[in-house]
Amino acid sequence: MERKKYAVILAGGSGVRMGAAVPKQFLEIEGKPILRHTVERFLEFDPQIEILIVLPSAFKSRWRDYCTEQGFLERYTMPTGGMTRFHSVQNALKYVPEGAIVAVHDGVRPCLTAEFLGSMFSKMDRCEALVPVVPVEESLREVDGTSSFAVDRSRYVRVQTPQVFRSEILKAAYSQAYNPSFTDDASVVEATGCRITLCEGLRENIKITTPADMLLARIFLEKLG
Ligand code: C5P
Repeated sequence: MERKKYAVILAGGSGVRMGAAVPKQFLEIEGKPILRHTVERFLEFDPQIEILIVLPSAFKSRWRDYCTEQGFLERYTMPTGGMTRFHSVQNALKYVPEGAIVAVHDGVRPCLTAEFLGSMFSKMDRCEALVPVVPVEESLREVDGTSSFAVDRSRYVRVQTPQVFRSEILKAAYSQAYNPSFTDDASVVEATGCRITLCEGLRENIKITTPADMLLARIFLEKLG
């Protein structure tokens, strides 16, 4: 039997690095909040996918009002953001059953495509945990106090989202205690001994963190149409 699909879209952070008055997931590109662009990509991939949007409690009514005004997204679940990304995902997974496939995605990565999502979900009959990565183009140095030394960049990759999992594996991983070394879902799942499969990411799928990223995202979204 085919597993049901879930998308956990994380917008539970306050986005302080952007320096804007509203969290970055609500900043607009081409007249739409970044978060809406991201959700639209998942619906384009599969209109039946179960959407969970994790928001800080202070911003839930803002999103609800926006959706009502725009007639956008009638059916979705809105778990509450936690202290850290880990706690936000943990809250969301309460609404995801075992036996499903779940994609966990940063709400501030709107420049992905339905095709890319399709290719990731289609690989899930062969793996338990799938993580998209892209090569490192810059030189890398390890910094140690006041000194630094060059490291071999070919040994490293940059990790993106969505990261896609069999839900029973992700739920079990998120039942362990929080560790500050958990920066993404793969690091949480790996700590339980599960094997992570890598796949080629999308260069355009940037995480909007700074004002410069906003400019890039605008160009990429225009190109995607
Ligand atoms: O803070 P950072 O840029 O690493 O956040 C990555 C994603 O995780 C963002 O989409 C952010 O909204 C989300 N997040 C969250 N809950 C937190 C912190 C971050 O959902 N407590």
